Amino acid sequence: MLNEVLLAGDRRTDAAADEPRAGWRPPVPSLSPSADTVTLLHDAILRKLAYAIGKSPATARDRDWFAATALALRDRVLDACLSSAAPPVPQKRVYYLSLEFLIGRLLSDVMGNLGLAETARAALAQLGVDLDAVAGAEPDAALGNGGLGRLAACFMESMASLAIPAYGYGIRYDHGLFRQVIEDGIQREVPETWLAEGNPWEFERPDSACMVGFGGEVAMTVLADGAIRRVWRPAELVRAVPFDTPVVGWGARHVNVLRLWQARALEPIDLARFNAGDHVGAVAERSRVEAISRVLYPSDGTPAGQELRLRQEFFFTSASLQDLVRRHIAERGDLRTLPDHAAIQLNDTHPAIAVPELMRLLVDEHGLPWDDAWHVTTHTLGYTNHTLLPEALETWPVELMERLLPRHMQIIYLINWMHLEGLSKHGKVDAGQLAAVSLIDEAHGKRVRMGHLAFLGARRVNGVSALHTELMRQTVFAPLHALDTDKIVNKTNGITFRRWFHNANPGLTRLSVEAVGARVLDDPTALEGLARFAEDAAFQERYAAVRRERKEALARVVKDRTGIAIDPAALFDVQIKRIHEYKRQLLNILETVALYQAILAEPQRDWPARVKLFAGKAASSYHQAKLIIRLACDVAKRVNADPVVAGRLQVAFVPNYSVSLAEAIIPAADLSEQISTAGLEASGTGNMKLALNGALTIGTLDGANIEIREHVGDENIFIFGLTAAGVQATTAEPGYAARAIAASPRLKAALDLIASGGFSPEEPHRFRPLVDELTGQDRYLLTADFDDYWRVQREVDAAWRRPRTWWRAAILNTARTAWFSSDRTMREYAEDIWRVEVA
Ligand SMILES: *Cc1c(COP(=O)(O)O)cnc(C)c1O
Repeated sequence: MLNEVLLAGDRRTDAAADEPRAGWRPPVPSLSPSADTVTLLHDAILRKLAYAIGKSPATARDRDWFAATALALRDRVLDACLSSAAPPVPQKRVYYLSLEFLIGRLLSDVMGNLGLAETARAALAQLGVDLDAVAGAEPDAALGNGGLGRLAACFMESMASLAIPAYGYGIRYDHGLFRQVIEDGIQREVPETWLAEGNPWEFERPDSACMVGFGGEVAMTVLADGAIRRVWRPAELVRAVPFDTPVVGWGARHVNVLRLWQARALEPIDLARFNAGDHVGAVAERSRVEAISRVLYPSDGTPAGQELRLRQEFFFTSASLQDLVRRHIAERGDLRTLPDHAAIQLNDTHPAIAVPELMRLLVDEHGLPWDDAWHVTTHTLGYTNHTLLPEALETWPVELMERLLPRHMQIIYLINWMHLEGLSKHGKVDAGQLAAVSLIDEAHGKRVRMGHLAFLGARRVNGVSALHTELMRQTVFAPLHALDTDKIVNKTNGITFRRWFHNANPGLTRLSVEAVGARVLDDPTALEGLARFAEDAAFQERYAAVRRERKEALARVVKDRTGIAIDPAALFDVQIKRIHEYKRQLLNILETVALYQAILAEPQRDWPARVKLFAGKAASSYHQAKLIIRLACDVAKRVNADPVVAGRLQVAFVPNYSVSLAEAIIPAADLSEQISTAGLEASGTGNMKLALNGALTIGTLDGANIEIREHVGDENIFIFGLTAAGVQATTAEPGYAARAIAASPRLKAALDLIASGGFSPEEPHRFRPLVDELTGQDRYLLTADFDDYWRVQREVDAAWRRPRTWWRAAILNTARTAWFSSDRTMREYAEDIWRVEVA
């Protein structure tokens, strides 16, 4: 541990000395292990097991082997950073602020990027230990809800792989996203305990802690020159302690840092109360403060627990800005040059409080004039929008802001005053337009619009797919866009191929390397070379064999978790994502019910065997979503038990969707369900992972599905349903649901079976709230899209019956989705938004 102890020292005058630094470039390691590298790693793992874990090989469990292996590999990552004595300070760094990082497991990432996967396998094998069991013992770091958090994790990996100097900043939650247990179809949330046995990847850095304030009041002081300065005197101070996880890029070219903050009370215990016998009360204040980093806020778009959420947002944003300002001053001295050396990206509005906090640091703490500070702020910040759903656009009550962050509220008012003054002075706008672009929403009891705040504070605002960006310009941000038409840009999301292709699907990766060369590992555009083999029968057979092997592995997982024995020869039709009404799992279930009825009605027809797989978590307070899970489970129960449909239709809801489960399902999927109501899914990234791995998409013209279609070609994707414009027009017609149901006997029959308790005979009205929504308002237009969805699903059946066509399309999906690499996305951010060099 000597190495680690030495490394942990943080010299304040050289704030960057504690971190792996940019600039170092080891040779790309070889992929086939040599005997001496195996021996070195073998010895290192044994030493870690003995001296860091305190176990012998005889008593070590898989979890211990995991920790020993992770520690040995972490040394390699650090050796990489330390090998050059004084790495240069990078010209410009990216700071990626995100309330969520849905990382998953790190072992295979690190092994793969160090080029040590086979070496580690051989080293452990010499010890009689199976690498896969060891990797399986790593808990998922589930510090995120879904797509937004996973995007941040993919971006961190890609920035390291492209050698973009970067810090990720977030919260080190004690408990990540809850573990989902399904009992009789009912979701129960169980606390996630990823840190229960320690975390071998991270370094605690108490010497880089900062103080974050809350509440209190704003005082005024008069400076020597007569100028007035405002000083925030918080009522409460919380210590933010950083934990650093090194993020190593592909080929170990570069190492970045993910810095996650933990909240600590200043006083660990009230000794007087403790001595007076109040043992619980003595730590009550500490519990209250430390609640900030206790649990990942599980909202995903539903309102609750407001104040704690705002405390979390300000806590990590303030600590991160203080940290980077401190580093900038140590390295460059003058804060006016911040925009030349730092690009701060706000992942959604959760860190939007960065706008007034950076202004406060610059003006109140460092004495910059307001105009200079505003210039620095608006040339350093960027803002990524992730949703246009009105219920998910953050606003905070002015009253709460004034109580928790009084100085920030003053700054927001001042920013707003200057913004509105500027507009009315030029006589460009009327009162209605002013109200639309104001930072304060007066219509709903005075609330601060965080999206507007981030928009004004940022140099660039981006959407995450072409359609979403266009809708930003036309809808929510239209009034602001009109004032500055260059500000909104598009950056279509991406996924890291190291995790979602190389590591998750080594069989398909190996096949691709054999077909088009090892260059695909460095440059995904080389996958295009696979197109030449799309119609090659021998290649198709090998491609299908890889899939078959993954399907058998997934069938074991499903059996394990649900008891359902699915048929690996069937078409695996998967919908895996958060459960949300707009994502329309219910549409898929309705089609399942209709298919069940159709098979019952004509059992003699040759229906191709299909397995419908669902996985996803529902926010704990989201009743409709939980009911959708229950319906999926109840449908599964009846369908799977019905001998008439045996061998043609099976249904399973696989509990506890996570990054690791996604890694198991995606390589085994034949059909990818991306069926959100058009205009509502900002991008999606699950769609990219599945297409890359050769699942054909059935989807609406929504989010990045549109761009996936452009890349894979019309004939290699199944598109159905209303367009975003069609959705808008239909929503405007009252009573469309009743008409759609009346016009579709198939839909009506499926709804009737559900409504009459066909899947819940013990409680016939169980699904009443779902049926009522569909027959009433049907906000997500399931009834409008049902018939077209059914029609295209039957086209899927037909295509599945022609394996040559099917595999051709699957291969072309893999060959043509290279553009969805997050390396491409990060290059675009680097060029247009951050203006940093990419090596
Ligand atoms: C990719 C991913 C998501 C996002 O899926 P979408 O289908 O884009 O909503 C959510 N959760 C996990 C675990 C993922 O890996």
